[in-house]
Amino acid sequence: MTEPGSDERGFETVAIHGAGPADATTGAVVTPVSLASTFAQDGVGGLRGYEYGRSGNPTRAALERCLARLEGATHGLAFASGMAAEDAVLRTLRPGDHVVIGNDAYGGTFRLVSKVLAATGVTWSSADLGDAAALGAAWPEHTRLVWAETPTNPVLHIVDIAALAEVTHARGARLVIDNTFATPYLQQPLSLGADVVVHSTTKYLGGHSDVVGGFVATSDDELADEVGFLQNAVGAVPGPFDCYLVLRGIKTLAVRMDRHAQNAAAIVDLLVGHPAVATVLYPGLPDHPGHAVAAAQMRNFGGMVSFLAAGGADAALRITAGTAVFTLAESLGAVESLIEHPGRMTHASAAGSPLEVPDSLVRLSVGIESADDLVADLRAALDAAHG
Ligand code: PLP
Repeated sequence: MTEPGSDERGFETVAIHGAGPADATTGAVVTPVSLASTFAQDGVGGLRGYEYGRSGNPTRAALERCLARLEGATHGLAFASGMAAEDAVLRTLRPGDHVVIGNDAYGGTFRLVSKVLAATGVTWSSADLGDAAALGAAWPEHTRLVWAETPTNPVLHIVDIAALAEVTHARGARLVIDNTFATPYLQQPLSLGADVVVHSTTKYLGGHSDVVGGFVATSDDELADEVGFLQNAVGAVPGPFDCYLVLRGIKTLAVRMDRHAQNAAAIVDLLVGHPAVATVLYPGLPDHPGHAVAAAQMRNFGGMVSFLAAGGADAALRITAGTAVFTLAESLGAVESLIEHPGRMTHASAAGSPLEVPDSLVRLSVGIESADDLVADLRAALDAAHG
């Protein structure tokens, strides 16, 4: 357990040293990958901190300490994927409880809630979480959790975390923020009143498209106990090497996020005014409806950019197939730039539901390559789709 707010040190310092001394016995400056699945006991029950690899592991504990500190949380729990982390938080709900998700939630969250959780007797609804007052006025009965992303995946809506936390707490529920797009470098939801942060560490925190992982951070002792129990009881835990990779990714998070945002701004400059583009969705644009809130609650606007192709679905598909530096692939948040068609890829599971995304939508995860190369690559694909 760490003390929230006790970090006098800057974000970058905590990102690099926040796990504590890597190995006091050898002086190694890098956290060892501790592969043991079981740990010797000094007499029955005489544990030296660890018992069995599913219940706890030193490399995992190092990641949990570091990322909890970065989120300003007293508890951090690592999982095998972002979905496993989400599942653990949602499993704390009981039959008859209600969860509200955003009406543009990540497709996997929608699928988990509507197909898996609903079968256990938990009810759900979706709402525009950007309008906290409207949610308060039409508050669904028995709501225990409000589940929001900001910026949202893939349409980059912004939710006012403090306003949503106020409405949620006034009605006795908890607010969960999926902080995958922003990361704790850009936004710290717990300091704005949220109760829980979840992450797909697969994305910016890992940062190199070489690991799948998830995380739950909270300073709510009761919830941490429940989620910690589920982490061990259900067992969707990350392996030690995966924890090492996420911990290594976190060390460079700040410099990567700065460059992601800088490159995203160059891409947005290209998109705005290009005839192949109907609408640019990026919270850094002054006319984005969430711009003021994003400017207040985020350090900067991040590396994700979406847009609607002027030529509709066909043009969107041609653009996604027409780049060379941007790779056509799912996922996001790594050093290499990715392009995708959410309607047919990441958000296909929302087709036919109120969470369906427009067919002309293209999502970009802007990487940290040379900005000039990224702009030239996307310009060529846009020109070809337009001509
Ligand atoms: N949350 C968001 C916002 C995501 O984009 C994703 C994956 O794309 C997830 C959660 C799920 O994470 P994972 O793929 O690591 O299970």
